[in-house]
Amino acid sequence: MPLHEKESVREKLEDEVYASADLSVSMPKYRFPAVEHDPRHAYSVVHDELMLDGNARQNLATFCQTWAEPEVHQLMDECMDKNMVDKDEYPQTAEIEARCVHMLADLWNSPAAANTVGCSTTGSSEAAMLGGMAMKRRWESKRRAAGKAIDKPNLITGPVQICWHKFARYWDIELREIPLDGDRLLMTADEVLARCDENTIGVVPTLGVTFTCQYEPVQAVADALDELEKEQGLDIPMHVDAASGGFLAPFCAPDLVWDFRLPRVRSINTSGHKFGLSPLGVGWIIWREATDLPEEMVFWVNYLGGNMRDIALNFSRPGGQVVCQYYNFLRLGREGYGKVHNACYETATYLAARIAKLGPFEVIYGGDRGAGIPALCWRMKEGVDPGFSLYDLADRLRSRGWQVPAYALPANRQDLVIQRILVRHGVSRDLATLLVEDIQRAIDYFGKHRLPTPMSAAEASGFHH
Ligand SMILES: *Cc1c(COP(=O)(O)O)cnc(C)c1O
Repeated sequence: MPLHEKESVREKLEDEVYASADLSVSMPKYRFPAVEHDPRHAYSVVHDELMLDGNARQNLATFCQTWAEPEVHQLMDECMDKNMVDKDEYPQTAEIEARCVHMLADLWNSPAAANTVGCSTTGSSEAAMLGGMAMKRRWESKRRAAGKAIDKPNLITGPVQICWHKFARYWDIELREIPLDGDRLLMTADEVLARCDENTIGVVPTLGVTFTCQYEPVQAVADALDELEKEQGLDIPMHVDAASGGFLAPFCAPDLVWDFRLPRVRSINTSGHKFGLSPLGVGWIIWREATDLPEEMVFWVNYLGGNMRDIALNFSRPGGQVVCQYYNFLRLGREGYGKVHNACYETATYLAARIAKLGPFEVIYGGDRGAGIPALCWRMKEGVDPGFSLYDLADRLRSRGWQVPAYALPANRQDLVIQRILVRHGVSRDLATLLVEDIQRAIDYFGKHRLPTPMSAAEASGFHH
C-alpha cells in the first residue's frame, strides 16, 4: 500500500462507538438529519434511548405479551416482509390466517366452524369496530325493510374499554354505558333490559373488564334478551368483547357458557397479542355464521386464482403476528394454553392472598378462573388511612422498575381508586414474591417518612385503559 494512502485508511478505521464523532455530540432530535450516520452509531443511539422505557416484563399494567419463545422471535424475523393485505402475493400467509379463523371459531363453539367468517386485525380495537359496524348495518337493513327510521342507533355496554367509546363516537351511535353503582362494578341483565329499545343495535358484554378484570355475565344477559324477544318481539344481538377472556375461558373455565353456544352471540373479538400469546399487532373478529357479516362490508380480493374476503380497516399490515399466532396454536394447543394460563391464575391467587395480608388493602378481585382473567385488583380498606394513597404506592414501586397502575373507576364510582396487577406469561412465582416484598418495603418507607400530602390522581402518572 502506498504510504500516502495510509492516513485515509486510518481515518476510515471504525472508531470505538461511544468515542465516535456521532456519539460524542448530540444526535438530531426534531430536524430532519442532513447527513448519514454509521449504522452502528445510529443503532446504539436508538437502542440506548429505549432503555428509558424500562423493562417491559416488570410492566404489570399491560395486558399485552412481553415474553415470547425464541421460535416466535425467529418467525417474526422471517416474516418482516409479509404483508397481510397481499393475499395473492403471500398466499400461504393468507391461508394461515384463514386456518386461525377456523380454529378460533372451533374454540368458541361456532355451529359452523368450518365455513365461518372472520379475519385478523391489528388488535381488539379494530376488531371491535368491525363487529360494531356489522351490528349497525344489520340493524339498519332490518329497520329499512320495516320502513322505520335509522337515525338514532344505540349500543348497550357495561364499563367498556375505550375502543367502544371510539366506535360510538366515530359512527354516531349513542353509547348507553351502564354506570357502576355501589359494589356493582359490572353489567347485569336487569340493567341491560332497562336500556333496550327498538334502536338498540346490540349489547356488548366484556369477558375481562379492563378496570376490575372480571367477566360480565354473558349467559344471564343472553337469557334476559331471549325473554325480551319472546315478550316484546325485540331481537337484539350480542357481540362479546373477549379481548382477554377469549383466550382464557376456553382453556381454564371450559364450562363457562359465553361464546357461540349462545345463539344470541353473533360475533366475538379477541386480542391475539394479549392472552393469545402472540407479539403485538394482532386481534381477531369472528362472526357466528357467514350470514352475520353483512355482504356490503366485504371486499373480494384475488387469492390463488380464487376469491377471498377482505374485511379489515387497514390496507398494508404486518403478517408476522398472524403467523406467530398459528405457531402458538400448533405449539401449545388446548393443553399448552391451559398450562400457561393456569400457572398465571395460580400466581394471581397467590399474589392476592399475600397482598390481602399486608394490612391496608382489600382485594376486590383475586384471580378466580371462572370469574375473570389472571389478574388482581385491590382498594384501600374503607376507613383506613395509612398515610399514603395508591398513587403514591404506584409511584414508589416505579423506583424498583415495577409498573403497577392505580386509577379511579369510571362513572358512577369515580370516588373509588383501585390498583391492579396483570399476571401474564413470564410473571413467575418468584417475580411475584419479589414484587410483594417491594410493596411491603414501600409501606414501611411510608410509615417512616410520612407524606405531607398524599398524591392525587392529577399528579399521578397518566394511565390509559
Ligand atoms: C385491550 C382491550 C381492548 C383493546 O384491544 P387492543 O388489542 O389493545 O386493540 C378492547 N377491549 C378490552 C376488554 C380490552 O381488554
